[in-house]
Amino acid sequence: MEMRAMVLREAGRPLVAERLPVPEPGSDQVLIRVHTCGVCHTDLHIVDRELPHPKLPLIPGHEIVGTVVRAGDRVERRTNGERVGVPWLGHTCGECRYCMSGRENLCDRPLFTGYTIDGGFAEYVVADQNYVFPIPPEYGDAEAAPLLCAGLIGYRSYRLAGEGLTRLGIYGFGAAAHIITQIARYHGIRVYAFTRAGDAKAQDFARSMGATWAGPSTERPPEELDAAIIFAPVGLLVPEALQAVAKGGRVVCGGIHMSDIPSFPYAILWGERMVRSVANLTRADAEELLQLAPHVPVRARVQRYPLEGANEALDQMRQGELRGAAVLVISEG
Ligand SMILES: [Zn+2]
Ligand SMILES: [Zn+2]
Repeated sequence: MEMRAMVLREAGRPLVAERLPVPEPGSDQVLIRVHTCGVCHTDLHIVDRELPHPKLPLIPGHEIVGTVVRAGDRVERRTNGERVGVPWLGHTCGECRYCMSGRENLCDRPLFTGYTIDGGFAEYVVADQNYVFPIPPEYGDAEAAPLLCAGLIGYRSYRLAGEGLTRLGIYGFGAAAHIITQIARYHGIRVYAFTRAGDAKAQDFARSMGATWAGPSTERPPEELDAAIIFAPVGLLVPEALQAVAKGGRVVCGGIHMSDIPSFPYAILWGERMVRSVANLTRADAEELLQLAPHVPVRARVQRYPLEGANEALDQMRQGELRGAAVLVISEG
């Protein structure tokens, strides 16, 4: 049996529409018919050659929502007909010092969906039974997809921004930011959104999602921040954010790739300010967010594209023209 897929043959080139054999699930894997797959900034970094050594050829996509249609002979956790989500973390070794200490997001021998193993820009995908998650019934296929990376990595960044915040800055108002703003508001936190200078549409979008204030990243917010999360892959924002946070404040870099961080005076780090990155996710993060999301309730703003529209979606992201999250709708229902 064959399936349609969008394939990266060579990094730096557009994806190519192809027909490929439907993959066979291994004994610990399930075969999933893909309903939707979100398009994440990480996909763009892979296609644009900013992340090293992707599997090639590669089917990108790591915000997958679909139905289990077949299960390998050792699969016990999932059943046929179950609707599940597949995130970025595709597999971990279970043996390294990170896996053994509750930090599987830092595993030494991980597999990543849509990067080192094939992902969801296709009609079918196989996934390890232990790394897929039931999707809450409150969510449709399209609006659930962005939860699986923008939501998950965003949520991990948000948690690592610290406890007891009341004032949170978010730099770069894309898919992750619009989800995290909703969660922060639910927790009574004021959100200050920073966008590119002059991007009035993004600032309006941030306010419509509940941001207290929105303005250009070069501007200081009207009050000091307890923490800031940087989702835009722009190293220049690190010193900007450091100058916006109060003593003891954290600056969390939420992306997998960032341009170089310029040097900055020690004085802006002084006062126990902290800069940290966030890498990948753990399965516990996924379980926590998927439980919390319907209570908020998180509502992702989605722009739909057909499977063959993947290049167009990536291009819109490259231009910074997306409002919310891009999702490929592959086989609904
Ligand atoms: Zn490991
Ligand atoms: Zn992602």
